[in-house]
Amino acid sequence: MNIAIDGPAGAGKSTIAKILAKKLNILYLDTGAMYRGVAYYVLKKGIQPNDRENVETILDEITMNIKYENNLQSVWVNGEDISPFIRENSISMAASTVSKYPKVRLKLVELQREIANKSDCVLDGRDIGTFVLPNAEYKIFLTASPETRAKRRYIELIERGQEQPYSQILEEIQARDYQDIHRDFAPLKQAGDAILLDTSDLSIEEVVNSIENICKF
Ligand code: C5P
Repeated sequence: MNIAIDGPAGAGKSTIAKILAKKLNILYLDTGAMYRGVAYYVLKKGIQPNDRENVETILDEITMNIKYENNLQSVWVNGEDISPFIRENSISMAASTVSKYPKVRLKLVELQREIANKSDCVLDGRDIGTFVLPNAEYKIFLTASPETRAKRRYIELIERGQEQPYSQILEEIQARDYQDIHRDFAPLKQAGDAILLDTSDLSIEEVVNSIENICKF
């Protein structure tokens, strides 16, 4: 069984996906972490994310592995666990930029499909229901207003001791949405058969309850 959860940044995908995976005792696959992994490697090599030619060339150097310990996912690139480094703000936009290139997507989608075919899992991303697993048993599209999503991110960063101006976060979220929605290949899009949930005015518990009521896993 696969559950696809798509939507823009800050809509609550990872929080909800983790809770569902735990309740159902299945795997949680954070596909954004893979794009972040490529972005991290590209930046480390001193390549600009918008330098398509060099990003595509260097892609062949990357061997990516996804590992789990106590149900916690880690992303390994060329034998190194890079999970601690991929949550930085600078990586978010770089991940969105490298994820435009079909060669990058196809490499990561292959790994995503391989994991999803082997295990029951909840996957969160942008194109899971439309492209990665068009036959997923359950598809959910989570959204929320840009202001709500920016506010969530603002609070999250304060909790991590990395406060940033709210206006800057809102701008970054809108820029990333725009880039993710407008790329040519496998853009951020609600699948025709996905359930749409606007989480702007819902608590985490309410979102989980709604999904469970609708999907009846
Ligand atoms: O979900 P997260 O914010 O970690 O994703 C980082 C970036 O990776 C997104 O902005 C998006 O451009 C890209 N991504 C994608 N397809 C996915 C997951 C993430 O293009 N399935």
